[in-house]
Amino acid sequence: MSKPPVYSVVAPVYNEAETIPEFIARTTAVMKKMGEPWELVIVDDGSKDRTSKIIQQHAAKDKHIHPLLFARNFGHQIAVTAGMDHALGQAVILIDGDLQDPPEVIPELIANWRDGYEVVYAVRRQRKGESFFKRFTASAFYRLINRITEIDIPLDAGDFRLMDRRVVDVLNQMREHHRFLRGMSAWVGFRQVGVPYDRAARFAGETHYTLGRMIRLALTAITGFSFFPLQLATYLGFISAGIALLAIPVVVYLRLVGSAAFFGQATTLIAVLFFGGAQLISLGILGEYIGRLYDEARGRPLYILRQPPEEPKKGK
Ligand code: UDP
Ligand code: MG
Repeated sequence: MSKPPVYSVVAPVYNEAETIPEFIARTTAVMKKMGEPWELVIVDDGSKDRTSKIIQQHAAKDKHIHPLLFARNFGHQIAVTAGMDHALGQAVILIDGDLQDPPEVIPELIANWRDGYEVVYAVRRQRKGESFFKRFTASAFYRLINRITEIDIPLDAGDFRLMDRRVVDVLNQMREHHRFLRGMSAWVGFRQVGVPYDRAARFAGETHYTLGRMIRLALTAITGFSFFPLQLATYLGFISAGIALLAIPVVVYLRLVGSAAFFGQATTLIAVLFFGGAQLISLGILGEYIGRLYDEARGRPLYILRQPPEEPKKGK
């Protein structure tokens, strides 16, 4: 490409063979109208279907399209990260490749960027084709994160967003393995604004975010931005030590006056089980943090490309 792109659209895809042609067509139609050089970085997150083939075929025909092919499935957040690493534009737009984020919203994101906002995130006004359970858990999740973390993550905003080059450069330096991009992009600050949009149903296929993956993402968000779970053990310790301290004289008194209260196995068993449980949970929480610490300490690459990108890109 002769001129460096002004806009980079970054789309992670995993087994989206049915959707990709339509996604590329709609995105291309939108970006063409913007009247500036643009590129579309499609990250194939180790798809098992024909996705990577289809992307490569499109890339061969259209110089705007840059494929990045992962050696295996690394997950959505890592795929987006790889796209950001390789994007060259002044504004980088993250969008899902399953057409749930309509590319037609991009001009509105760009308009806000032109107005001087460095992060323009799209806020889900309506979500079509998603179960009540998914909507409920997602909504509860965002509220919980905001409660216990020290950053304000916009409610009901996903990764669909536009970020200025300066923000992308900062985020690209944050090489944490357990990534929660929405949180990271809120954490960096800058001028941010939300744009409401209606989230569409999937064009084809099923969500890849199973309950297990959602829980993992939630844990990443919590551990990445809060010490609250670690402090829980301290609170619980103080509370139970306090209760014990108050209870000792009461029990001694009851024994002296000959009462039969607090005798017997049941009371002991309940207390032992309760504190056994509390201690194991605390250990588990510690384990969550230590495991993540271990991942960071090993310093493995965040992702592995199946082949080098077709032209040398800056710095990587
Ligand atoms: N995706 C990915 N790697 C994965 C799972 C998903 O790149 O391991 C892509 C997927 O193809 C889609 C986007 O990330 O373009 C969002 O995933 P999905 O639609 O499964 O999540 P949901 O929209 O249901 O939250
Ligand atoms: Mg989706």
